[in-house]
Amino acid sequence: MDYDIIIIGAGPGGIFAAYELSKGDPSLRIAVFESGNELDKRKCPIDGDKVKACINCEHCSIMSGFGGAGAFSDGKYNITNDFGGTLHEYIGKREAIGLMEYVDEINLSHGGEGTKLYSTASTSIKKLCMQNKLKLLDAQVRHLGTDKNLVVLGNLFKELSEKVDFLFCTPVSEIEPIEGGYRVEAGATSHTCERCIVSVGRSGSKWMEGLCRKLDIPTESNRVDIGVRVELPATLFAHLTDELYESKIVYRTQKSGDNVRTFCMNPRGIVVNENTNGIITVNGHSFEDPQRQTENTNFALLVSKHFTEPFKDSNGYGESIARLSNMLGGGVLLQRFGDLIRGRRSTHERIREGFVTPTLTAEPGDLSLVLPKRILDAIIEMIYALDKIAPGTANDDTLLYGVEVKFYNMHVKLASNLETRHPGLYVIGDGSGVTHSLSHASASGVFVARDILGKL
Ligand SMILES: Cc1cc2nc3c(=O)[nH]c(=O)nc-3n(C[C@H](O)[C@H](O)[C@H](O)COP(=O)(O)OP(=O)(O)OC[C@H]3O[C@@H](n4cnc5c(N)ncnc54)[C@H](O)[C@@H]3O)c2cc1C
Repeated sequence: MDYDIIIIGAGPGGIFAAYELSKGDPSLRIAVFESGNELDKRKCPIDGDKVKACINCEHCSIMSGFGGAGAFSDGKYNITNDFGGTLHEYIGKREAIGLMEYVDEINLSHGGEGTKLYSTASTSIKKLCMQNKLKLLDAQVRHLGTDKNLVVLGNLFKELSEKVDFLFCTPVSEIEPIEGGYRVEAGATSHTCERCIVSVGRSGSKWMEGLCRKLDIPTESNRVDIGVRVELPATLFAHLTDELYESKIVYRTQKSGDNVRTFCMNPRGIVVNENTNGIITVNGHSFEDPQRQTENTNFALLVSKHFTEPFKDSNGYGESIARLSNMLGGGVLLQRFGDLIRGRRSTHERIREGFVTPTLTAEPGDLSLVLPKRILDAIIEMIYALDKIAPGTANDDTLLYGVEVKFYNMHVKLASNLETRHPGLYVIGDGSGVTHSLSHASASGVFVARDILGKL
């Protein structure tokens, strides 16, 4: 065999699997195949000047390359079983938390020291939420910030590249079971290994579907989360963000009984475009460095949709809604809350006259032409509910960017050690449908590495 272990994908799942394996047994021959670039060559061409919109690069620098989808993220590592994935259902709650804490230690020892760990334990905000029909989920969150997150990734790469072979710009096309292991094909080259860890994240979801079909690995459809990104003056949410940094708040709507939740809160951050398979959606992040902070806070409001029979393509549904916003706005649409509730589109002039300056250039429009009524009603209800704990949330000038879609990979059928029905073939991270966060994806990498080390 060319390698003992081949890891596919250099996102947090793949990185932490490689880290733990090479630390546990330095004699192991490990290779990481990554379809994107190394960290310092990852550059999105959109500069807002010459290139204003996505030009569909062969490998999206935002989603692919060393660091995976999380490289330019806000670097929020949530230590919790309440959200971010269902790893605990496979490995147990205590072990999952222990692994997330271990990942946190590694991040701290690789450049993340000095960053703040926020916690919901003993906060009075919990009671305030309950009094207003809102639920604050329990979590600890380490906020690395986009800048420190890149420092940590750079240090991890420096250390790992001495022990592990990294093959960048090398998308894997096939994995074929052979006697005693697997053949991994990437373009014209092919390599063999005893064990293979697949960690291809959301950007590898279509490829993953094909692989499961080919290797007869059962899958199940997952949910899709659809909503908007809210941007408002940071001061309105300061009492929440100063204490908790990110608060995950859930509200059950009166009208439909649907749950709406806050997601990915970025105090003093910026709103950004996200490209998933050529569809432009919205996201956000923030910087640890005060010089790079803005006067706005942004967060998503999301409603989950899970389809069963006869329609199962939750992601296809989310994509169609996102495509509609791209069709009307050429990308992401932007609307003032006041315009939305008055049933009129926003215009450049109305946005300019408002008191909140958008941090992302997006086309003013009408989100009610894009989002299904049930989802839009739920979001509006949630904004009024949040207004009770953070007065001003429902101001006319609050900005709504649409659409934000969180796609989830289908659930790959895995044993409790995250191994497929093919011995030695593991699926971890977001590509497995088990995780959907930095901390859970990283923890799943450490878990599988330890499982393999235990068998060697
Ligand atoms: C803008 C943004 C902000 C985010 N912010 C946060 C946050 O603050 N906190 C949080 O918890 N989560 C955040 N997330 C989510 C988080 O980034 C993911 O949950 C996490 O990166 C998943 O890790 P992963 O290793 O499973 O997959 P990924 O990070 O997606 O990595 C998978 C890698 O596999 C590669 N790949 C795919 N297919 C192939 C193939 N066939 N061959 C070779 N390589 C392949 C991809 O190029 C990619 O680099 C954010 C995501 C985005 C996009």
